[in-house]
Amino acid sequence: MAFASSPHKNGTGLNARSTGRLDNRPGSVNSTIKPVTPPAPATASPPMRPKSASPSSSVNTGTRRGSGKNGSDNGGVPGRVRVAVRLRPRNGEEMVADMDFADCVELQPELKRLKLRKNNWDCETYQFDEILTETASQKRVYEVVAKPVVESVLEGYNGTVMAYGQTGTGKTFTLGRLGEEDTADRGIMVRAMEDILANVSSVDDTVTVSYLQLYMETVQDLLAPEKDNIAIVEDPKTGDVSVPSATHVELQDQRSFVRLLQAGEANRFAANTKLNTESSRSHAILLVNVRKVVKPKTGDRELIVLNENGGSPQVGKNIRAPTVRKSKLLIVDLAGSERVDKSGSEGHTLEEAKSINLSLTALGKCINALAENSPHVPIRDSKLTRMLRDSFGGTARTSLIVTIGPSPRHRGETASTIMFGQRAMKVENMVKLKEEFDYKSLCRRLETELDRLVAENERQVKARQDEEEENERKLEDTRECAAEAESKLAAAMESIEAERKKFQQDLAEAHQNLEKAEKELKNISQDYQHEKKEAKHNEELLALRRRLDEELKHRERLEEEVRTLREQLTVLSDEGEESRKIIDKVGSGRSSEGSQSPSVHKPTSHMRDTINGQRATIAKLFEQVGLQKILSLLESEDVDVRVHAVKVVANLAAEEANQEKIVEAGGLGSLLMLLQSSEDETIRRVAAGAVANLAMNETNQELIMAQGGIGLLARTADDAEDPQTLRMVAGAIANLCGNDKLQIKLREEGGIRALLGMVRSRHPDVLAQVARGIANFAKCESRGAAQGYKTGRSLLIDDGALPWIVANANNDASPIRRHIELALCHLAQHEVNAKDLVAGGALWELVRISRECSREDIRNLAQRTLNASNTFQTELKRLQLVY
Ligand code: ADP
Ligand code: MG
Repeated sequence: MAFASSPHKNGTGLNARSTGRLDNRPGSVNSTIKPVTPPAPATASPPMRPKSASPSSSVNTGTRRGSGKNGSDNGGVPGRVRVAVRLRPRNGEEMVADMDFADCVELQPELKRLKLRKNNWDCETYQFDEILTETASQKRVYEVVAKPVVESVLEGYNGTVMAYGQTGTGKTFTLGRLGEEDTADRGIMVRAMEDILANVSSVDDTVTVSYLQLYMETVQDLLAPEKDNIAIVEDPKTGDVSVPSATHVELQDQRSFVRLLQAGEANRFAANTKLNTESSRSHAILLVNVRKVVKPKTGDRELIVLNENGGSPQVGKNIRAPTVRKSKLLIVDLAGSERVDKSGSEGHTLEEAKSINLSLTALGKCINALAENSPHVPIRDSKLTRMLRDSFGGTARTSLIVTIGPSPRHRGETASTIMFGQRAMKVENMVKLKEEFDYKSLCRRLETELDRLVAENERQVKARQDEEEENERKLEDTRECAAEAESKLAAAMESIEAERKKFQQDLAEAHQNLEKAEKELKNISQDYQHEKKEAKHNEELLALRRRLDEELKHRERLEEEVRTLREQLTVLSDEGEESRKIIDKVGSGRSSEGSQSPSVHKPTSHMRDTINGQRATIAKLFEQVGLQKILSLLESEDVDVRVHAVKVVANLAAEEANQEKIVEAGGLGSLLMLLQSSEDETIRRVAAGAVANLAMNETNQELIMAQGGIGLLARTADDAEDPQTLRMVAGAIANLCGNDKLQIKLREEGGIRALLGMVRSRHPDVLAQVARGIANFAKCESRGAAQGYKTGRSLLIDDGALPWIVANANNDASPIRRHIELALCHLAQHEVNAKDLVAGGALWELVRISRECSREDIRNLAQRTLNASNTFQTELKRLQLVY
């Protein structure tokens, strides 16, 4: 009772994982799962040595170059055949028959291991991709075994789901149950189709189904039983396998698929009946072709269709070739893997028996070859291996479910099945995307585009022809117009030329006119300016004339006045002249010392009466005319007027009462001005007389000096020859010599020098005035010495007056003699002068004066002087003149 242990002992309860799936999609190969190297199967067919090269060389997938999505461009990605083991629960019979025996297998789903009992004490352990216990639901089986393959097919890869196992272990249960009574029973075919239909577009995509049976190397169409020998066609270029003559039903919904499966099943049953065989001896192949249009995602690079030579893509520049994915799903329900009785127990001949098993045997061989990486895989040995050439060693994603029963009675078959699964796990496929351009569709679009372009081109050509014709016509018209225009232009040019000439003439004419006008304008302008000037001039003239008239009137008035004045002045000057003559007649010698007018003499009573009468007349006239007017006449341009005027002023100046008025009215300045500037001798003489009269007053003396009078008098003295002039000048200087305050300045400004210079005249009147001046000067010096402010030698001696004094001390003319005598007495009074007086011979004169002078006061003065001076006394003693 070694097999008495429960078949569920190691399996049930451990296979509830819903996550485990035979995920053999590219890139998700679970590399950690390594099949436990099974021992060489006792039941396996002896491996056939492959003759040819690597499996990949005999599996030409024909996928478009460079279209691989998930793998390398040309080789795809490795995808090992995934293998799951499903254990069927004990059936009724086994429940009974094997009641005392344990299951021949023990499952370790969590470890994905399966233990196969050899006997009660020995077992072999095998590793699989998935272990599905007897309780595994159909759903879970689908998800673990088939769903990854279905998803892969929807992504554009070929896929195969195949069930392998002994008859009665549940292959058809796993794959083909429709689940009509119990939906949970739905098998892989139904569920796969559900998923496919749910993931394709009913508009763009197509799903077609063929359902075939392979029995005794004959392919039958389960959807059209009459097609009982369907050819398998391989594309020599791509290696793609297809059954073009089989029925391809395009599916729209799941229900039609189920009906199709039902029909297929029915046909299979009928066929088997007809052939007198069992379904377990035939292989059922469901072939699903999925054609999916790939919608470009935003941002996908646009594919440009090149022409065959790889040249310019001009034509298809903006036409994108649509991409389609044509994938294939094979669901294969294999015949039972148990060995067929070679005796043909089921009523077949030996040959028939061989043929029944041929495909399965060939499959085993191929898998062996692939598992061992043998260079030759005998694919072409059977129809099954030809059909499955892409599933094993090809480009499909393949999932194999190995079904086993628990019965120890079938341990051998079970072991053989397990070994098949183990070898299949070693088969490595290169999974490739079945994507290609939809050239037909592109071609259709291009043809449409071409038609459109051709039509468009025709239209354009026609339009261009029309346009050209139109242009030609227009050109002709234009030429005609141009010729016409040319002639018009020539005419116009001619007329323009004529116009231009005329215009130029007009212009020249206008230019000339303009020049003329300009000249005229200039003349007018000049005239205007001239007139303007004249007008202005006239105005000025008028004004001037008015002023002139006024001036003339004024002048007339003035002339009238002047005439009157002249008359009056003539009278006055004549009278003055008369007076002077009378005075002159009286003679000199009676003048007193001190200030005195040279023109004032002591007249007789008669004369005095006459003079007084004349002076009264003058005074009267003076009252009538006015001093200011008389003084203004001193500056008259008329010499006569000036002469008369100066005479009147001189006469007025003779009156002491008038002197102050004359000076106040500016008469002194006017007289000095005449002295300086007048060329007329008479004027200078009379002016000097007038100054001399004014010089009798001390205040006036200072004013004369202040106004530069001494210089003017000196210059007049130097220039004049007329004795009367010199007399007046000398008289004036003599008066100034009597002023104590002016001594120094008088001498400095040349007064003494001028005075002495006038002795050249020898006229007694002149000499008398000179002597008077010397006497006045000496008297002032003497007073200064007496008062102590005059210390040095007499300035008269300094200026060389002494010789003339000594020489004229005894002059015959008494006025001269008297003044010199007085002068000598004054000089002698000052001791500093004594020596010079002695040296100059003045001592003798003093002695004479002291003895002979007729005037007693002078005699006494001389006497006193001689006595007072030590020098004189010493000299007199030396001369032995006792005094
Ligand atoms: P096969 O196709 O391998 O010859 P079947 O699918 O016809 O085997 O199954 C044989 C019997 O076993 C059927 O009656 C089926 O219902 C049953 N059976 C198979 N597998 C299971 C399972 N996993 N659970 C329950 N019953 C099963
Ligand atoms: Mg079956």
